[in-house]
Amino acid sequence: MKISIIGCGASGMTAAISAIRNGADPSDITIFEASDRPGRKILATGNGRCNLGNEYLEASCFYTYGKQGKDLLGRLLSEFDTDDLKAFFRSLDIITVSKNGYLYPRSMQASSVLNALMTEINDAGVGIVYSALINSICKKDGRFVLKTADSCYEADRVIVSSGFGSGGFDVKAEGMDIKRDLSMMSDSFEYRTPVPALCGLVVSEDITSIAGVRTKGGISLFSYEELLGCDEGELQFTKECISGIPVFQVSRQAAHALKAGQPVSAELDLIPEMTEDELRTEIYDRIKAHPSRKIYEILNGLINDKLIKYIYLGAGISGRDKVLDLPSEKIDMLILLFKHLLFEITGTEKQDKAQTMSGGVSISSVNDDLSLKGSDGLYITGELLDIDGKCGGYNLYLAWATGLIAGRSAAK
Ligand SMILES: Cc1cc2nc3c(=O)[nH]c(=O)nc-3n(C[C@H](O)[C@H](O)[C@H](O)COP(=O)(O)OP(=O)(O)OC[C@H]3O[C@@H](n4cnc5c(N)ncnc54)[C@H](O)[C@@H]3O)c2cc1C
Repeated sequence: MKISIIGCGASGMTAAISAIRNGADPSDITIFEASDRPGRKILATGNGRCNLGNEYLEASCFYTYGKQGKDLLGRLLSEFDTDDLKAFFRSLDIITVSKNGYLYPRSMQASSVLNALMTEINDAGVGIVYSALINSICKKDGRFVLKTADSCYEADRVIVSSGFGSGGFDVKAEGMDIKRDLSMMSDSFEYRTPVPALCGLVVSEDITSIAGVRTKGGISLFSYEELLGCDEGELQFTKECISGIPVFQVSRQAAHALKAGQPVSAELDLIPEMTEDELRTEIYDRIKAHPSRKIYEILNGLINDKLIKYIYLGAGISGRDKVLDLPSEKIDMLILLFKHLLFEITGTEKQDKAQTMSGGVSISSVNDDLSLKGSDGLYITGELLDIDGKCGGYNLYLAWATGLIAGRSAAK
């Protein structure tokens, strides 16, 4: 029984290992990889250290759509919990270590995770065809037919693990059209157009003066006054985006709302550890002690000085003004901006800057064993499925967990 796997990334490699461990003959397995190397994205994960999972594994760390999505998530979490994840890597001789709950290989090198997966695959004798960009899959006379630009391959089982090319590890435009090919093989196929997630958010305001600044803060994301999400941590600013982990964590909500044509705004709290009243007292105490100082001298040290300037200019205060000459409304506006700095969100960073995509093949389209409904023998894993996770090892968790299930199912 021939098993073809499309994509030698995190979920495709795991699917191959799982198929072998569940009895498939390795010489019957072939992985087709568009790139000339396996697992390029794995090497980039966790800033080269591979945050491969998390001690804290709860449904609230993931996003999916509909009842079927929640059911699948529940099954994944009960079938493959943190101990199973550690045991899986231990079985590959990778010892995991936890940093504040974030799991990494002990070496702190993503390359050791990739090497461990590939050593198991190569030792078993799985065939890998590199530079093989599959551009279509179909079913003919009960077998699957996979095509590249110049070759045609047949298989009894296919595991589609190609991801959506997030992070710039993209395959060329002439790669597979998942929606087209899978909908031809399944009457119940449903798909949510994927949007970039875990990425920066483009703002309409001119923020070039604060580009490069990093600061501790909080973000709350709104659409029509409805809170879409919030988070806290290190915020970053680029020439056109607000970024950093807290922004990544709410980016999928922004992307879906923008796709639905809704307005989206972000409110930043630049001093989250102080209430508005505490900040007011702090600033007025400073003013009382030094009434002849300029505003930037009064605010010095509260946050990054470039941000301080952005804020006082935003409150209509000039750097030359002495604080004793300032009307209290301007000081109140200043305090408001520190705690509720508003940005209009006009877009997300593009797919090549996103760590994952949110959306894809709806979970209602797949059976419990991750096979496509109405097309026995075709399985879907990883990023292609409409489940995505927060930052913190959750997306790789999904890749490993779905790869393990699909590989086991395909081996049966
Ligand atoms: C910069 C960056 C950092 C990240 N850091 C983390 C982290 O620390 N922790 C975490 O949990 N997640 C992280 N992620 C997300 C994580 O890497 C992905 O969720 C995960 O790799 C998805 O696995 P996958 O197998 O679905 O797809 P991929 O890993 O993208 O693998 C897909 C493979 O299929 C190949 N392919 C695509 N199309 C075809 C085709 N038509 N024919 C043949 N081959 C094809 C691709 O070349 C690729 O090798 C990060 C992502 C990025 C971009």
